[in-house]
Amino acid sequence: MKPIVILAPRLLKAISWVIDICAITLYPFIIAREEMSEDVLCHESIHIAQQKELLVVFFYILYGWDYLRGLVKYKDKSKAYFRIRFEQEAYEHMYAHAYLDTRQSYNWKSYKV
Ligand SMILES: [Zn+2]
Repeated sequence: MKPIVILAPRLLKAISWVIDICAITLYPFIIAREEMSEDVLCHESIHIAQQKELLVVFFYILYGWDYLRGLVKYKDKSKAYFRIRFEQEAYEHMYAHAYLDTRQSYNWKSYKV
């Protein structure tokens, strides 16, 4: 199933507290500030896959947990964000546009906060 893309520039600007957010994913939607590049679409589509395997709610619980662990460990909001395991997987593979064709389920587990 292809994600449903919604453009909401003001919303994305309003929630850009830690980093400048250009898109967020809430399965099955991708809410974007503007038309996305293929790379950003791939990044968000990886989050769609992660959310699907964790029934969305557990994705956000673990996402918050990873962020808090990162904050305690690195004492830096930006570093804590980039150390979230879901973000590590998405950033590492966002330029390999066929990644989702061969991705193993729960691959985010191979990363460490
Ligand atoms: Zn992301």
